[in-house]
Amino acid sequence: MSEVKNPGRTILASKISKTYDQEIVDKINDLKEKKVRPEGPLLVGFLANQDDEAAEMYAKWTQKTSEGLGVRYELRRVPDKDFLEEAIIQANRDDSIDGIMIYFPVFGNAQDQYLQQVVAREKDVEGLNHVYYQNLYHNIRYLDDAQTLKSILPCTPLAIIKILEYLKIYNDFLPEGNRLYGKTCVVVNRSEIVGRPLAALMANDGATVYSVDVNNIQKFTRGEGLKFTKHHVEDLGAFSDDLLQSVCKDADIIITGVPSKDYKFPTEYIKEGATCINFSSHKNFVDEEVKQKASLYVPMTGKVTIAMLLRNMLRLIDNREHMKN
Ligand code: NAD
Repeated sequence: MSEVKNPGRTILASKISKTYDQEIVDKINDLKEKKVRPEGPLLVGFLANQDDEAAEMYAKWTQKTSEGLGVRYELRRVPDKDFLEEAIIQANRDDSIDGIMIYFPVFGNAQDQYLQQVVAREKDVEGLNHVYYQNLYHNIRYLDDAQTLKSILPCTPLAIIKILEYLKIYNDFLPEGNRLYGKTCVVVNRSEIVGRPLAALMANDGATVYSVDVNNIQKFTRGEGLKFTKHHVEDLGAFSDDLLQSVCKDADIIITGVPSKDYKFPTEYIKEGATCINFSSHKNFVDEEVKQKASLYVPMTGKVTIAMLLRNMLRLIDNREHMKN
């Protein structure tokens, strides 16, 4: 009897992130040659949370990837959280630092959102500044009217967009800005860090996105015939398994980000041949089951997020140099 094979493929984030390595290395070499940063750019990560294993791991990978590609990385531990704000302000003022990131959660409440805004916009590699968010939600791609300074996108939603491009879900035949036209997507997570900006980005690019959180399900679109220039949101009702199942019926893409080890997306809701991507640090799909249902499955996305951090930093340096000239 022949062995039953999975019909689709599992694609690892490490494979996708590698496609950005050369672009990053070339850009860093250029900065070195032009003496903009002869020793390579400097990224500083602030870790104020003790015993946060996920943050420690993320910091370790950021350091390894950065140094492997020619970026200097410095992890600054701030044992007393109340000194973090001052440490960020000092880094904002330090011209030797090109990029700043914070390992969240720090306080685990709205104070974290305040800290995001303390990071200077010009050094915000995570793309969390409110100006960047506002541009994203309004589908504005530049910081200036002359369209010389590109806006920055939050790195995890951006990583997922880049994964969709790699998987050829974005259709190159369509005009830029409409390349997800005709695609239906479900995003299970509506946090302000990942899920909501991701749903908006995909809808801005022409997709129909069902955004799911514990409370309700919303539909993000640019309207019939993509008549609007940016996404609109419609409430579909309170969360229920039936409503989730019904929005999944036509979903070409299912993206999960539920921060719980016990959560598993119901495999029976997945359309045969759909693309499934999980960005939660816990595996939200049952591996063996999803592999038999999905055409493409990306179990984790963290390494692509790190590549996007570095890419954002290089874009920030470009913007800074452009402003000087
Ligand atoms: P969060 O707690 O702010 O948001 C969780 C979201 O999931 C909320 O919208 C919530 O309503 C929704 N949710 C929770 N349980 C649900 C359920 N049973 N059904 C439907 N929706 C449900 O978390 P976050 O900051 O968005 O992070 C989510 C996960 O993503 C975490 O595991 C985090 O570690 C991970 N993360 C990964 C990256 C990366 O680059 N891979 C980056 C940031 C966060």
